[in-house]
Amino acid sequence: MKLSKLFTKTLKTNPADETAINAQLLIRGGFVSKVMAGVYEYMPLGWRVLQKINNIIREELNKIGADELYLSVFQDRETWQATGRWDSAKEVMYQFKDTTGKEYGLGFTHEEPLTATARHYINSYKDLPKAVYQIQTKFRNEARAKSGLLRGREFLMKDLYSFHTTQEDLDQYYEKVATAYDTIFSRTGLKAVRTFASGGLFSRFSDEFQVVSEIGEDTIYINEEKNRAVNKEVNTDEVLNELGWDKTKLVEKPAIEVGNIFKLGTRFSEPLKLSYTDESGDSKPVIMASYGIGPGRVMGAVVEVSHDDKGIIWSEQIAPFKVHLISLGKNAEAEDVYQKLQASGIEVLYDDREDKAAGEKFADADLIGCPWRLVVSGKMADDQIEIKKRPDPTPQVVKRSEIINLLK
Ligand code: ATP
Ligand code: MG
Repeated sequence: MKLSKLFTKTLKTNPADETAINAQLLIRGGFVSKVMAGVYEYMPLGWRVLQKINNIIREELNKIGADELYLSVFQDRETWQATGRWDSAKEVMYQFKDTTGKEYGLGFTHEEPLTATARHYINSYKDLPKAVYQIQTKFRNEARAKSGLLRGREFLMKDLYSFHTTQEDLDQYYEKVATAYDTIFSRTGLKAVRTFASGGLFSRFSDEFQVVSEIGEDTIYINEEKNRAVNKEVNTDEVLNELGWDKTKLVEKPAIEVGNIFKLGTRFSEPLKLSYTDESGDSKPVIMASYGIGPGRVMGAVVEVSHDDKGIIWSEQIAPFKVHLISLGKNAEAEDVYQKLQASGIEVLYDDREDKAAGEKFADADLIGCPWRLVVSGKMADDQIEIKKRPDPTPQVVKRSEIINLLK
């Protein structure tokens, strides 16, 4: 991609109405554009990052046998009334009537509609277990939408749901998902701590995946030896006793919840009558679990934990491009490097702008935060190119012919 053709422009100063670092840097870099509090549009650079996060999630979930589907954002009142949640959902759910007076809500989670849909396909023990997920826009009437991508009112969620005949089968799958989550977060460049939390409907705990950061709204207590934590809400003496953890050794930290997994049991299958016939012909409710990740929140969290005073520092796996190539008055030569990088499958953002000074180009490269910066300039010998890793301060000059091998 060429910077001269890019839809967005960078900003030199922080937007006045944003206090969160992720929002400031992502807006300045042209990754996202703000529509209103808690609502952001993804611009080409931001969309590339988001798609990479989504694809990491897809790869890891497909490996554990989950299939991707896509549900409706529209949800009807009847289904939510069956579980008794329509009225209590009002606080977060955008609910409205159509011209005939029929009531709907915009999805903020999908346990109800998916459980209803699953009745078409799950009838017998032979149909189980099953696991499906989607990556879809959710809507929540969030009261405190001032942390940029961390807390949107419109945001993307990956929600996975699994269906089982027995608690043991569910428990096993649940652990597989937890392991997949560890891989997903570390591939995006995040260090996420699995955290005991309250709120499991049919289990003692639910599990949150928390990333330590000053901006985090949660407080967690980390057991560094075990690389696990407990959320403040469940940090009682009783819980610590149960876990056998020594209170004095726990480290208190603010953290961002990037993922959350729950054992639901039969909370949804019973009221919505999702049942199966077992081997002896008896009808039983299906046992369920649900598992969420916020890809936009992940993107915001990466920016929060990985930046410096110049801009963002992306990991290679989710950077919009691996390479940021800058031409300083040498467009013909730089164009040649650009073509060669692309031909060898290396993703490159090429700053071919002729009306920008070197300082401005370097500042943009630091702000956008691709892992490698290449510079082709008139100050170097014809066969040379400068290479620098973000955020290292010192560049190296190497032979242009070596660049592909170096980057691979
Ligand atoms: P929180 O405690 O932060 O309000 P939650 O516990 O309500 O989140 P879930 O309903 O479990 O979150 O949603 C699953 C995942 O979706 C969360 O772990 C988070 O990564 C993401 N998520 C939830 N709410 C938002 C939001 N408003 N904006 C962006 N991502 C969100
Ligand atoms: Mg939560």
